[in-house]
Amino acid sequence: MEYSDIADDLTSVLVTEKEIHEKIAELSRRIEADYAGENLLLVGVLRGAVMLMADLARELKLPIEMDWMAVSSYGSGTKSSGVVRILKDLDSDLQGRKVLIVEDIIDSGLTLSWLRTNLENRGAASVEICALLRKPDAAKVQVDVRYIGFEIPNAFVVGYGLDYAEKYRNFRDIGVLAPHVYA
Ligand code: IMP
Repeated sequence: MEYSDIADDLTSVLVTEKEIHEKIAELSRRIEADYAGENLLLVGVLRGAVMLMADLARELKLPIEMDWMAVSSYGSGTKSSGVVRILKDLDSDLQGRKVLIVEDIIDSGLTLSWLRTNLENRGAASVEICALLRKPDAAKVQVDVRYIGFEIPNAFVVGYGLDYAEKYRNFRDIGVLAPHVYA
């Protein structure tokens, strides 16, 4: 889906598809250098990280495995509840594994700090985080994110996997949702 298909629902485009792909290439070169010779496990957080996971995995010139988790930190609406529930768990055994969590966005940071501790407690050799977007509020919770794509303002964004009420995930760019859509 292109900008012209949903222009009325957005106030602006924040990051274009081209900028996303350039950033993923840049992050991939760093990941390749950091994990050379390793058997890396990418853990994608459903559903928002699906696009990033697909593009990052294909860009990486490393043998990787992929697994998925679904967690919920949001009720309905656009504010984090702080309550994390596992909706779908991993199939892989993490004992001794080098894990890279692949996440779409860090808002409050609550989801990721909880997830990292959870995966570390399963015996992973290391757990690092790759997030495409980070909002300013993320600074409130101490989450050490090794690979970050873009710092964005405190607005509700959609596209490239990010949704509002399950819509807009297939928008190619990342845009700010117009208030009239969720008011
Ligand atoms: P956190 O626990 O507040 O960091 O929330 C992280 C999760 O909230 C992300 O994985 C997204 O699913 C969702 N989220 C946070 N901000 C946005 C946004 O601007 N648009 C869409 N989803 C968001």
